[in-house]
Amino acid sequence: MKKYSRFRIALLAMGIVAILALTGMNLYSLYSLHTSTVDSSVEKQREQLEDIVHGVRMRMWQPVSELWRIDMAVFREIQTREAGVPDRLHRILQKVDEDPLYHAAYFMNATSEPCREDGSVLHYNRDIQNFETALNVPDVICDGLSMARTRMNVLAPEFKWPVRTLFDSYRTLTVALFNPGIQEIVGYLSLSVNRDYLVDEIIGPDIIQRFGYLEDSGVLVWLDDWSRREMIVANTRDPETFVREEWDHIQRFPNMLEDWNIKMRYFETPQMAASKASFIRNVILLAAAVFLLLGSLVFMYVAAQRERELSMRQASFLANVTHELKTPLAVMQAAGENLSDGRVTQPERLQSYGKHIFTESQRLRRMIEKLLDVAKNEAGQLIIKPAPLRLDERVKQYIQEQESYLRQKGVEIELQIDDHIPLVKVDQNSFETILGNLIENAVKYSPDEKYLGIRVFSKNRNVIVEVQDRGTGIPSSAQKLIFDKFYRVEDTLTATTKGHGLGLSIVKNLTERNGGKISLSSVYGEGSTFRLSFPAAENQLELSSNGKAIDQKKVEPEYV
Ligand code: ADP
Repeated sequence: MKKYSRFRIALLAMGIVAILALTGMNLYSLYSLHTSTVDSSVEKQREQLEDIVHGVRMRMWQPVSELWRIDMAVFREIQTREAGVPDRLHRILQKVDEDPLYHAAYFMNATSEPCREDGSVLHYNRDIQNFETALNVPDVICDGLSMARTRMNVLAPEFKWPVRTLFDSYRTLTVALFNPGIQEIVGYLSLSVNRDYLVDEIIGPDIIQRFGYLEDSGVLVWLDDWSRREMIVANTRDPETFVREEWDHIQRFPNMLEDWNIKMRYFETPQMAASKASFIRNVILLAAAVFLLLGSLVFMYVAAQRERELSMRQASFLANVTHELKTPLAVMQAAGENLSDGRVTQPERLQSYGKHIFTESQRLRRMIEKLLDVAKNEAGQLIIKPAPLRLDERVKQYIQEQESYLRQKGVEIELQIDDHIPLVKVDQNSFETILGNLIENAVKYSPDEKYLGIRVFSKNRNVIVEVQDRGTGIPSSAQKLIFDKFYRVEDTLTATTKGHGLGLSIVKNLTERNGGKISLSSVYGEGSTFRLSFPAAENQLELSSNGKAIDQKKVEPEYV
């Protein structure tokens, strides 16, 4: 038996471990799915930032993209201005002129010092389709040209291409014109950038088009100027509520717009929110499933364990009851035999044989009644007829009837019954069975001090009946089990006391079927108190119309 029990516990433990392991794996894969969804959404947004930067570069470069096709010798003649601007260059310059991204185009010979001497910088005049000496050259152009000049001087020895684009942040785009054949810088074409157009018509709309507004997309994207410490444009209507320094990803403009970069900060994108919601939903479902599985596993284990204990108790009950039935029968058989033989003639002996037969048959009847009660109740055939009843009266009467028997057993009785006990609706037979069983136990399980305390009082619209003894008491581990069928405490007194573990299960069942509750407080070695509580009947006046308890006729329990 022990071996099987260990085996069962091991199986239960293995089942629990398997469920937990599966749960762990599931949780892990759910979490990975969630993070990979979030990562891929973040990755896509980063790519969008790279695309914006690439788009800006292409857009700025586009008007001058044809410059590399032009013969560099042409630029030497620009300086003299007599030959005019060849068609191809003219078309490029016209394109620049028409492009709202640029304000104006300036040219400077490679040998000139920008803005130092008059006539060093030329300005393209669309009307005359030629360059002319620039008066009042804007500072940004002077800066752009001198910066390009300095950089190109460094790059020239290694340079192999006809053009090189150089940015002075967002102010100018300068194209250095180079003759790779003879490693000579020919000149510089510098375009002043329309910053507002770049911001308001190119970068700003592109951010909105790709990311939408923060309120819808959950991601904040803005063009940031780190040198001026400002958010230039953002995909929100009130950028001032956000802190520039808090960002999750930054995208620079390599080799151009050095003061600027695009920053991104995630709040919760719709994809992230959806993934999070589905993650939470799945975790809840998983938890519920695991809870259910674990619950049913433990329930099955406990149920099997209980079933096993019950069948063991039933087996011992059967052995017990067979013995119990045989003993009185044997006594009655022997007495009956002697009487029928006519061997016993003296009146005292005749009386004693009769007494034996009477008490043994009573014992037998009680036992059979108990068994019947249990069997009928289990089959749902025990009919209970709750009716108005005064428990104080019933208790008094019951004790009166049993007093001589109890005194004879040496029981000290203490009865404490309050006045004005309300009526309850309880079946009288049931109540007598309950009381009888509790009193019988109080006497049976009090080997030394035979004390029986009965109290009847009302509390919170309930009538309470307490049956107290100073007997063996019940160990706390057994207190929950004593109301189970066939359960008997495993101690020496119980072992030597006649009983089958049925009384308290009948008591509990009858109490509950009559709308009452039973509880127990007991200290092992000191005694026990069983407490019955029945709700007071709702309409006391009507029920006790003449101020008296309505006395019920004693009715035998009815079986269907
Ligand atoms: P039985 O008395 O026939 O064994 P019960 O169902 O009446 O069956 O009681 C179940 C068990 O509870 C008893 O075997 C006994 O161990 C314990 N018990 C019941 N009443 C008392 C009591 N008043 N004092 C101590 N133990 C009790």
